[in-house]
Amino acid sequence: MQRSTVLNWLREEDEERLGELWRFADAVRRENVGHEVHLRGLVEISNHCVRACAYCGIRAPNRALARYRMSADEILACARQAVALGYGTIVLQSGEDYGLTRDWMADLIRRIKAETPLAVTLSLGERPEADLAAWRAAGADRYLLRFETSNPALYHRIHPPADDCRFEIRNPKSELRNNHRITILHRLQELGYETGSGVMVGIPGQTYDDLANDILLFRDLALDMIGVGPYLPHPATPLGCQSEIENRKSKIPEQVPNTDLMTYKVIALTRLACPWANIPSTTALATLNRESGRELGLARGANVVMPNLTPPQYRALYEIYPAKACLYEPPEEFDAALKRRILALGRTIGTGPGHSKRQACAAPAASAQDRGAPCLL
Ligand code: SAH
Repeated sequence: MQRSTVLNWLREEDEERLGELWRFADAVRRENVGHEVHLRGLVEISNHCVRACAYCGIRAPNRALARYRMSADEILACARQAVALGYGTIVLQSGEDYGLTRDWMADLIRRIKAETPLAVTLSLGERPEADLAAWRAAGADRYLLRFETSNPALYHRIHPPADDCRFEIRNPKSELRNNHRITILHRLQELGYETGSGVMVGIPGQTYDDLANDILLFRDLALDMIGVGPYLPHPATPLGCQSEIENRKSKIPEQVPNTDLMTYKVIALTRLACPWANIPSTTALATLNRESGRELGLARGANVVMPNLTPPQYRALYEIYPAKACLYEPPEEFDAALKRRILALGRTIGTGPGHSKRQACAAPAASAQDRGAPCLL
């Protein structure tokens, strides 16, 4: 897929033309990952965080936020609920929290693997290589770490480096030119994790060029999972306060809007670039378009949904952005409605762990191209 083609699609506004993109992305999705929509139960296990990401509401400097860390038994109860609802995967997500020690997490992973048939996905931030290796050895299957943007200057603006020396994967010389998360993604792949990444769409300062580069980087990194969602301003963050938003708008003519339409474009182009990837229709997208964001994501390239299983007393505290969709909905109710909506789209509910199909298939990037529609690619 040519860079110029990606750029043209990102700039396309004509609804009929965009209809072609949606249909092609949907066809490539069907052909490569089928009708199944895989459900991954998300448990936000801790909102403690040592980092100061400029976009994220649970950043360490947000002192107004009450902090929590779930117990192993609470997390196991969520895992059993995931099994009861028929899900094949549990996703454990948190801030970058060193209170979740290497050994404690390894024990937790071993317990989940011993007591349930679930695949375990981790999303715990930029942890040292020894932690990542120990958790893989304990049985963790997958790791999610979004690189957030492929533009190193923008990355460093929104993602200040950690100021201690726990991060032995770092390479200080290349740090300011490169995105350190990409280094970690390579290590995760070497450790044998199914590896996921992604970006936010419409970060203040993000241009169309940046976004096209993000999509091409998804392909080059040969990722198993790719999550993209709109950037949603959080008022307790440097990036989210109103003056910053106004400031950026006036300065950057090439600013990508943080709209649901732009997010569908990125999902569709990501499907074309990475036909075999597992791509979620994200909660951030459903937050922006509560009516139909989730379904439109699924209809335009996505094949995964991550229902939230975090216990109600913690959910509001995992406030990475405000007014998250389904903040108070009990998992059983959300699950029943979600499954009805998936079936209404003519799709089926995934069974089993829903592992990546990428590694089982050779030359994934070629297939979309081979199947035709050169006018689109
Ligand atoms: N600490 C983990 C998990 C962070 S939350 C980590 O850093 O990987 C998971 C994702 O939520 C982030 O990677 C980011 O892409 C997204 N996110 C955070 N703040 C957001 C915001 N204000 N709007 C939209 N997405 C956001």
